[in-house]
Amino acid sequence: SMRIAGYDDELAQAIAAEARRQEDHVELIASENYASPRVLEAQGSVLTNKYAEGYPGKRYYGGCEYVDAAERLAIERVKRLFDCDYANVQPHSGSQANQAVYFALLEPGDTILGMSLAHGGHLTHGAKVNLSGKILHAVQYGVNADGVVDYAEVERLALEHKPKMIVAGFSAYSQVMDWARFRAIADKVGAYLFVDMAHVAGLVAAGVYPSPLPHAHVVTSTTHKTLRGPRGGIILAKNAGEEIEKKLQSIVFPGIQGGPLMHVIAAKAVAFKEALEPEFKTYQQQVVKNAKAMAAAFIARGYKIVSGGTENHLMLIDLIGRGVTGKDAEAALGRAHITVNKNAVPNDPQKPFVTSGLRVGTPAVTTRGYQEADVAELANWMCDVLDAPNDESVIAAVRAKVTAQCRKFPVYG
Ligand code: PLP
Repeated sequence: SMRIAGYDDELAQAIAAEARRQEDHVELIASENYASPRVLEAQGSVLTNKYAEGYPGKRYYGGCEYVDAAERLAIERVKRLFDCDYANVQPHSGSQANQAVYFALLEPGDTILGMSLAHGGHLTHGAKVNLSGKILHAVQYGVNADGVVDYAEVERLALEHKPKMIVAGFSAYSQVMDWARFRAIADKVGAYLFVDMAHVAGLVAAGVYPSPLPHAHVVTSTTHKTLRGPRGGIILAKNAGEEIEKKLQSIVFPGIQGGPLMHVIAAKAVAFKEALEPEFKTYQQQVVKNAKAMAAAFIARGYKIVSGGTENHLMLIDLIGRGVTGKDAEAALGRAHITVNKNAVPNDPQKPFVTSGLRVGTPAVTTRGYQEADVAELANWMCDVLDAPNDESVIAAVRAKVTAQCRKFPVYG
């Protein structure tokens, strides 16, 4: 047989165990989701074999007529999904999409102004440990005492440092970002506005979170978070003009990538088709309803949510002064089969590997079918664990309840 099982049992066991973990544990990592069987099918297809450097109709290899069709479908659908007129679906990841934007529009040493990792931005928005912070001169903004983006500070920093690009978007921020305000600040100093909407792309597609496309010069996203597609990246723009579009095209290939992953592009195409269905809008509305229900449950139990609540799919629980670090809270919840990630909260006294917070997101549980009452129940069990993170009997009791709840909501059936 050409199956993995029976040939490579060590690997087969790891894959089977991961499949079981995904069914039996509750997934609250805000950047994760369950791709549909169609998305998995496309990624496991023979398109994996094809080299197709270049773009549809302009390839450097023969035999590209069918992968051209797949890539054209992905481009046309994603443009429809986000109501825009430019799309590049080849970036291998969100980080590569962002790298492409920087190298398309900036020179080494140019100044960018992005949200700091410590306040909810992403590594690729100018963190010192990332190439974006090494090759570019990165100035960073953050949130105010209420946990909301400090637009006055963004404007002050922009006027002081005259960045060539302002980066908006986030990995850990639960409010609506005011894209128009960012654009007004960018225009004031003649900067590009680049929005990385990776976390909220699915919400934007469904119209439940404001679209950055009318405001930004260029937008990137991952395709595997709220958008629920394969792991990968995209670059989008609306009315960017031919010059910017040409630069974006040539930086992705041949600038920073070689052959595109045609099986992943096919999976993007089918994910975008799914996202254009009416059910996707209902799903995203439920993602936000569930996040609000969880935040309300945490607050009712006395836990502090950064910024006071959520307007999207995620929230940050602030554990400062609760006698448990983010690291220990993540581990205790993990023993109860609840998967979250520790996350720095604004002005966190702990080191990044320890932290004083947890990031909690609802895209994955909502895909499973959880509704408000289910996530509120879950949030209360989480509070039971957070109230007594060293009490293994509490953890065992919660684990039993989580297991029963997971059985009610199978992922792949
Ligand atoms: N941008 C944002 C806002 C993210 O949250 C992430 C991933 O967490 C990325 C970019 C990077 O995506 P990838 O992990 O595909 O490189």
